[in-house]
Amino acid sequence: MSMLQEDRQLTDISVAKLMIPSEKVAHVQMNNPLEHALLVLVKSGYAAVPVLDSTYKLAGVIGKTVILNQILGMERFETEKLSEIRVKDVMNQDIPTLSKDDNLLDGLNSMIDHAFVCVVDKHNYFDGILTRRAILKELKKEIYTSKLFNK
Ligand code: AMP
Repeated sequence: MSMLQEDRQLTDISVAKLMIPSEKVAHVQMNNPLEHALLVLVKSGYAAVPVLDSTYKLAGVIGKTVILNQILGMERFETEKLSEIRVKDVMNQDIPTLSKDDNLLDGLNSMIDHAFVCVVDKHNYFDGILTRRAILKELKKEIYTSKLFNK
């Protein structure tokens, strides 16, 4: 099987099929204080989660490291800041996105630099996330069932 044919198969698998749908994704709201975001992150065990606005449009991503950096003082963690600073003030807005119609290869490209990428519709409403785990699981399946591997 030629490499081109292999590539075509990978482009046949849609992001919609691989993504975690929005209702199963932990998220925070732009106006939440950092305290709430840190609680969600620690309780869920995730390093970062999506940030949504009040209409469920994607606004950014927030992670534990950014929060801890914000409250890191000269001598101690200034935990009182957790209730003063809002998620929208420190979230990362410079993030890639995918759409449900994109395919596995598009997802793979984004996954090189990001543990997960948010999936949005054309109006920026949040549809879910594509994770490295989902991509790796699918690639493993493809490799094990490919003729190249079974030769
Ligand atoms: P994984 O590839 O499963 O390790 O996931 C990569 C990253 O995606 C995690 O570290 C989280 O930041 C994010 N993530 C995975 N699953 C969820 C979820 N259900 N809700 C929110 N974020 C998630």
